[in-house]
Parts: sequence; structure tokens; C-alpha cells
Amino acid sequence: MDPQPSRSPVTAVTVDPDFHQRNLRRYARPLLQWFDRCQRDLPWRKSKTAYRIWISEIMLQQTQVATVIDYFKRFIQRFPDVATLAAADVQEVLRYWEGLGYYRRARQLHRAAELMVEQHGGEFPLTFPEVLALPGIGRYTAGAILSIADDQQLPILEGNTQRLFARLIGIASDPRQPAVQRQLWDFAEKILPAQRPGDFNQALMELGNQVCTPLRPDCPACPLQKLCPTYALNLQEAIPARSARPPVENISEAVLLVSRSRKFLLRKCQPGEWWEGLWDFPRYRLESPLTAVLSEKFAAEFGLLTDLQDTGWQCRHAVTRYRITLRCFRANQVRGRLKPAADRWGWFQREELEGLAMSATGRKISRQLGSII
Ligand code: SF4
Repeated sequence: MDPQPSRSPVTAVTVDPDFHQRNLRRYARPLLQWFDRCQRDLPWRKSKTAYRIWISEIMLQQTQVATVIDYFKRFIQRFPDVATLAAADVQEVLRYWEGLGYYRRARQLHRAAELMVEQHGGEFPLTFPEVLALPGIGRYTAGAILSIADDQQLPILEGNTQRLFARLIGIASDPRQPAVQRQLWDFAEKILPAQRPGDFNQALMELGNQVCTPLRPDCPACPLQKLCPTYALNLQEAIPARSARPPVENISEAVLLVSRSRKFLLRKCQPGEWWEGLWDFPRYRLESPLTAVLSEKFAAEFGLLTDLQDTGWQCRHAVTRYRITLRCFRANQVRGRLKPAADRWGWFQREELEGLAMSATGRKISRQLGSII
């Protein structure tokens, strides 16, 4: 019978120190055989150029594979190479990214493409220091791109492999601790074979994602079961240690629909705000239910006077640890002159909104304007 996951907390696991040394060369064969048999058919695996792997790796940060697939196909169709991406307006890149979240990634992709045109003749560089020097690329991403696209013998460590390695080594401590990170990177380097390092790295991530899952890993289907002390000790649920999640915070916000001459006022989210670089309707933290307070905040920012009315429309959404209730207010009269502010805000016709890169809730509201106002 297969061992059942333990529920008791674990602080230390004793593994024979020679265990890994003896086994370092034994991971590749079963893992690669399993990968050849079981790997998923994903669009970025069809033609493994450094450019395509880079785009997929950046999209996959903080985002599920199932969500990324369609975004990846659309993005590659519109921006098939470095030169096309570099030549595009960053607002268009953000529009193609809209809905994926963590928009800094899209801005950094665009900036990195510009740098590749300036410094590498429009080609994706293929040396580790050059890739690492690009914006938005750390040790993991550089290793993933160069090993997968160019079979360079570079190790990787991300969320899935971190959990997998912690279980394969038998580390019960929090894997995010610096000392543990060093141990995990060291392990990643030592088990990496000279043959097919790119496939091996992909196989590790695939195994972590599909089999060695955070809860109830499918150990009977795991090609590395015989090499896994966590399985042998029945500690799958205790390893790796899970850190406490930050508490959820509920907040209320007001969004203002301000229109003049059949155009709506939108502002561009600024550095440090959620959705930086994307367009949104003016919004404020709703600390007081009084519309007069909202009107004052709006007048202070934009220089316009309004009478606000609650439309009764509201929605809920989540950003990181915040659960936000968003209430929609309509401006009945708009008086005064809009403060000049370069491209920080502007008036847009309803038909123009579809072409803008907008925040998640801004898009939701823009598509329901007819029923809200
Ligand atoms: Fe993960 Fe289980 Fe495989 Fe060990 S045997 S690596 S715990 S799936």
C-alpha cells in the first residue's frame, strides 16, 4: 500500500549524507523518459527559439499555464520577433498583456526588446551575463531560456522545482530562506546532466507542476519515487514548510464616471499604483460614504467640480491580498477646466475605450457603461 501523507509538523529530516552524492547521476534517465512520454503539448514547445521561450517564461511568472496559452499565441502573432516588439508602442504591448496582471513584466519586456535592438543587433543574446543584464530577467529566467533554447548547461530554480527539490533532498525548512535557497541551487546544478539539460529542466518543472504538487502529490506516478526520501519517510504534506499567508484585507473604493461632450475622463495609473501604465476611470479609496468628500478629492486632483451620484452599480475584485468592493458614481455636472497633465489623463469616446490598455475593473466597467449610467 502507498504511504499516506503525514499531518504532523516536521522540523528536521535525517537523510544519509551520502544519499544524494551516490544518486546525483540517477535522476536524468527516469525523468527524461517520463518527460518524453508525458509532457504537455504547449505552444512554446513547438519552436524553441530564445525569443519565444523568453516570452513564455515571463508570462508564466505568477500565472497559470492554462491562462498563458492564448495570451502567448496572440502575443507571438502580433510581435513575432525582437524587432517588432521593440518597434511597438508600449501601450499596445500593455493592451496585449491586459488581463494577465503584473504589468511591470510587459513594460520590462518592451524595454528589454529595445535594448536588444540597441546592443545586440535585434537578436536575443545567447550568453548568460548578457541575458541576465536585461530588465526583468533573473538567474532562473536566464537559465531557463538558455538551457531550453540553446541546451546550455544552466540550472533552474522556481516555484515548482523549489518544492520538488525540497522533497528530493528532504529539507523541512522554509525553502525561501537564503541558506536553503543556496542548498537548492547547489542541488539543481549537481543533478543537471550534460546531455539534454534543457529538456531536463523542463521535465523538472513539469514534474513539479503535474505530479509533485503542493497538496497530495501523485507519488505512485512519479519517476523519481525511488530517489525520494520524503516519500520514503511519508512526509509529503510537511515538506516543504509552508509560510503563513499575509492576512486578507477588505477595502472599499469609488470609481467616478465623468463625461463631457460624450467623452469619458480616464487617468493613466502612475508608478507605484496598481496597473501602472494602464488607463482607468478616476478611483479613490472610499473612506467616507459622503459624495461631497469624493467630489473634493476629485476636484483637488483634476480641477473639475462635479455633483456625484451613486449609480448603485458595484463589483468585487481581488488584487494581491486585497479584496476590493468597488462602487460606481456618476458625475451629473462637470464644471471648470481640467488641469493640464501631459498624458496622465484624457477624454475618450466610448468607442475608443476598446483600443486602450485598461485596468481589469476599468475594462469591466467600460463594457457595461450602457447599463451603469
Ligand atoms: Fe514528489 Fe512524491 Fe515524487 Fe517525492 S515521490 S518527488 S514527493 S511526487
